[in-house]
Amino acid sequence: MRFCLCLPMLAVVSAFAADLHPSETLRGKLVLGDGKPPAVETAEHKLVTLDGDEPTHKVLADRRLNGFEVEARGCFTAPDRFLIDPIHTRGLLVRQDGKLRMVTYWCDTCSIRSFTPGPCVCCQRETTLDLRDPDKL
Ligand SMILES: [Zn+2]
Repeated sequence: MRFCLCLPMLAVVSAFAADLHPSETLRGKLVLGDGKPPAVETAEHKLVTLDGDEPTHKVLADRRLNGFEVEARGCFTAPDRFLIDPIHTRGLLVRQDGKLRMVTYWCDTCSIRSFTPGPCVCCQRETTLDLRDPDKL
């Protein structure tokens, strides 16, 4: 009987542990260069290559963000490789005027906001980079 009682307990504990998957924060300057994978240069001048989901990769391909101070949440997959959390969890924030902002793209014509660069889904016009306060989205 005691054994039976323990099993559900174990399930709860392991689910809890999975939830606590160690999320780390990587801070530094975005380095987006031609033909090179996106990277962050840390305060210690260490170059860390960035990985992420597809929308995150599209954002990291946007050269307008080159040189921005960023704060990425995720985990290290190697000492010099960092996997950013999925874009919907706001895994990547950039610093502007001392505040953390979300990277968004705005179409003036249609008032449509998107989270990846490129043409507007509606009118196909190029969207403008719009860094937003995550609390005011
Ligand atoms: Zn549009």
